[in-house]
Amino acid sequence: MNNYKRYLVTSALPYANGPLHIGHLAGAYLPADIYVRYLRLIGKDVVYVGGSDEHGAAITIKAKKEGISPREIIDKYHASFKETFKKAGISFDIYHRTSEPIHHQTSQDFFRILNEKGSFVKQTSEQYYDEEANQFLADRYIVGTCPKCGHDDAYGDQCEKCGSTLSPTELINPRSTLSGNAPILKSTTHWFLSLDKAEDWLRDYLEKGTLDGQPHHDPGEWKNHVSGQCKSWLDGGLQPRAMTRDLEWGVDVPPEIEGAAGKKLYVWLDAPIGYISATKQWAIDQGDADKWKKYWQDSESKLVHFIAKDNIVFHCLIFPAILKEHGGYVLPDNVPSNQFLNLEGQKLSTSRNWAIWVHEYLNDFEDKVVNHVDVLRYNLTRIMPELRDSEFTWKGYQETNNNELVNNLGNFVNRVLVLTQKYYEGIVPELDTSLDFIGSAAPDEAGNYEAELGKIYSKLQAYCAAIEGYDFRGGLKAVLEISSLGNQLLQFNEPWRLIKTEPEKVKQILHLSVQIVAALSVACRPFLPNTSDKLRQFLNLDLVKESGELSEILTVLERGEPLVATGHTIGKAGHLFSKIGDDFINEQLEKLQNAAPAEPTFEALKEEATFDDFTKLDLRTGTVVAAEKMKKAKKLLQLTVDLGFEQRTIVSGIAEFFSAEEVVGKQVVVLANLAPKKLRGVESQGMILMAENEKGELGFVSPQDGFGNGFTVR
Ligand SMILES: [Zn+2]
Repeated sequence: MNNYKRYLVTSALPYANGPLHIGHLAGAYLPADIYVRYLRLIGKDVVYVGGSDEHGAAITIKAKKEGISPREIIDKYHASFKETFKKAGISFDIYHRTSEPIHHQTSQDFFRILNEKGSFVKQTSEQYYDEEANQFLADRYIVGTCPKCGHDDAYGDQCEKCGSTLSPTELINPRSTLSGNAPILKSTTHWFLSLDKAEDWLRDYLEKGTLDGQPHHDPGEWKNHVSGQCKSWLDGGLQPRAMTRDLEWGVDVPPEIEGAAGKKLYVWLDAPIGYISATKQWAIDQGDADKWKKYWQDSESKLVHFIAKDNIVFHCLIFPAILKEHGGYVLPDNVPSNQFLNLEGQKLSTSRNWAIWVHEYLNDFEDKVVNHVDVLRYNLTRIMPELRDSEFTWKGYQETNNNELVNNLGNFVNRVLVLTQKYYEGIVPELDTSLDFIGSAAPDEAGNYEAELGKIYSKLQAYCAAIEGYDFRGGLKAVLEISSLGNQLLQFNEPWRLIKTEPEKVKQILHLSVQIVAALSVACRPFLPNTSDKLRQFLNLDLVKESGELSEILTVLERGEPLVATGHTIGKAGHLFSKIGDDFINEQLEKLQNAAPAEPTFEALKEEATFDDFTKLDLRTGTVVAAEKMKKAKKLLQLTVDLGFEQRTIVSGIAEFFSAEEVVGKQVVVLANLAPKKLRGVESQGMILMAENEKGELGFVSPQDGFGNGFTVR
């Protein structure tokens, strides 16, 4: 940890075509923010960059659908992201965007150098093309069935269901997302990055943590699911990957390169370079245009990418390969990707509106939840999907607020401040360490002033180790444990009783308690920045500026000295947190249910049937040739069905969904050996197969158009 001179930390660039939900926040932004605030607290030189990813097919598709320009889409979401991150306390040093000229330039420079170095192979191949839209179909422009998991709407570059990376030609039954048509194949030329040639060194880098034969990082520090995904790609063998596209929106292939006309950089080539161009812009803003170089090009810089698990391949394989091919850049020391956060038992889903939108939370709850930003940050950190998927529930949100923030942290701070005001007019009392008291660990522990400071010190060490190991849940837990120690100190000694009999002892207990609040005001900072500010104000101390304060208090505590001197006058206590009631939670649950359409529900599978059971059923293809509404029967249609070898009369309960006119001509499947049955005086000679969904709506099960009548279905 301490070998690096400086840190460059990135959060995944959010894609500028839809709002951010709590899963995004818990995935790549909150953990990075905790980490960089911590680094600043221990006095490290760190730059934290982010920005909006403003290229790629999903933006142009959305623009086409809404009849506006891509520029309008990206401007809207970029402004919204920037505002949202600011309000949520995500402390970027710069929040940039990939539509800026400096980014286009930086990406093109990368392309030029890789092209000159021969890192690409230029290949002409047949690719899917939409004749109606006059466009090649890559990435999000094409959907089809995933060859790996059978998901129906896998994209041309990735299946969101199983996470596989795909190429459009792997999709089963591909169709254009522009027109819905089946595409044709047409030849086009593209630049492919020779990832196959990078396989050997990537394996060393990822599995052994070595680069060019030198130790680079400790692969044991990487999360298992990240290493595991990398290993499975490497084991599957890396293929050359197209780095250009036939698109109208994006970064141009440098125009002087032959064949560049109409070609754009693949969005996953340009997006990670966005971290570099953002750092360049930051350096310019700092008045030292070359300052970015030491963060990216000096081997004493530690590069850490915070992402969600669907971006692992791009950050662990492709971007490192691009950086290495270019040369002169540092490679990531770690990519602490998180898994996914679920919401109330279901996957977060933008399209289904099953989400808590961060901007809505930030705007709507300001007056409803005390310290609402930190309450969300606390809850999301506590359930952060660090190693496996986890779940947000409103009930859990309420419980952690009420039990941990209000009853533990808030209660402790409040008691210390109120009692110090009440007994000593807010002046930190002098200390007589010769007096005995009960220690904070157990009601029978003999108290010792230095030992109490030592307990805080060792909790803080555990806290540091957790955060440095990307265990942010562990770091937060340590903060609450410090607060618990404080509560126990008060609980065991009961200063409110002791003040009548042994007032001198109370001084020692409250003096100690003030030290604990002071330690908390620094330690909570990465997780709860607003709470940190409040605690500092309550204590009448300077706000934490995140410039080495944690290192300072560790040094003081290690010496066994107080953080707040005797005689210091503290301020007044204010509202830190307050209880959240059931009504509020029920309101949120209701809002969520109303916003999102219900998930389809599926009937449980019936008992297993043998093949013999199935062959007893004689299913035949047929066509409805006549239909009429049955008298006095709301649900029934009387159908005449041509089975090729004969015509049948079949009474079918579909009249609520289909009129007699619209079913004539329908091709159907008939259960032809069902025992005849009289319905309203008409003998029904078979049954038409229908599908029924969870709402009870019916749909025909039909053979392929033009398929003849009378043939067996098996
Ligand atoms: Zn899949």
